Amino acid sequence: MRLNDKVALITGGGSGIGRAMAHTFADEGAKVVIAELDEASGQKVADEIGDNAAYVHCDTSSEEDVQASLAMAEKRFGGLNVVVNNAGVSQKDWDTTIAVNLSGVYYGCKYGAEKLAASGGGSVINLSSILGLVGIGAEDAYVAAKHGVVGLTKNFAIAFGQRGVRINCINPGWIETPMTATIREMEVMNTQVMTQTPMGRYGKPEEIAKAALFLASDDSSYMTGASLVVDGGWTAR
Ligand code: NAP
Repeated sequence: MRLNDKVALITGGGSGIGRAMAHTFADEGAKVVIAELDEASGQKVADEIGDNAAYVHCDTSSEEDVQASLAMAEKRFGGLNVVVNNAGVSQKDWDTTIAVNLSGVYYGCKYGAEKLAASGGGSVINLSSILGLVGIGAEDAYVAAKHGVVGLTKNFAIAFGQRGVRINCINPGWIETPMTATIREMEVMNTQVMTQTPMGRYGKPEEIAKAALFLASDDSSYMTGASLVVDGGWTAR
C-alpha cells in the first residue's frame, strides 16, 4: 500500500477525476477528505469509501473555506500529508474561472504547503491541463488559469524545496468526466478530440488518478515543480 498512514485532502473530490483519486488513494491505504462544493456528491463519495473518508463543504474560490478545510482534514485524521488542488470549472465567465481554477489553486498551495511543511513535509498536486501548455484559440480564462497553475507549481516548488514539500502538477488531456460531457455529445468536437489524440480515445479518470498516486507517494521523491503530462499523446503533435 503506497499511501499507508497518509492523509490526503482532495478538492472537487465529488466528481470525475477527483472522485477517482479519492478511491485510488483510499485503496492504497490513505485517509481521504473530500473538500467539495456540492454536498450531495462529496458526501456520496465519502460514504462509498467508508470510515477512512470524510466530506467537508468547500468553495475553493474562498480563501477562508480552503483554510478551514485544511484545518478540518488535519483535525479529523490527526495529520495531513497530501493536498490535491483539483476542483475546476470550464465554460464559465472570466471571473468565476479565474477565481476557482487559479485563485483556488493558489490558496491550496499557499495554506496547504505551509501546513505540510509545519508537520514534516508532504506532497501538493495541482490539476492543470494540456491547455496549461498550449492554447486552442478559445476558452481564454480556462487557458490563462491553467497556464497560471503551471507557474504557481514552479514558484511554490522553489519556495518549499528545502522544507520537505514537493509541489507538482498534472496536465491531463481529454478525460471522460462530466466536464467533457458536452464535447463528447457534439459530433464535430468529439471527432476532433479523437483524431487529434494519437491514442484515439479519451482518457479515463482512473488513468489520471494513477499519475496522482505516483506524485502523492514516495515513488516521486525527487520530483518537484514538474508538469506531468497524461494526454494520450495530444501534445506530441
Ligand atoms: P468535474 O467532473 O466537473 O469535477 C469537478 C468537481 O469540482 C465537481 O465536483 C465540482 O462540483 C467541483 N467544483 C467546482 N467548483 C468548485 C469550487 N469552487 N470549490 C469546490 N469544488 C468545486 O471535472 P473533472 O473533469 O473531474 O476535472 C477535475 C480537474 O481536472 C479540473 O481542474 C479540470 O480543469 C481538470 N482537467 C480536466 C480535464 C478533462 O478532460 N476532464 C482535462 C484537463 C484538466 P460541481 O459539480 O458542484 O460543480
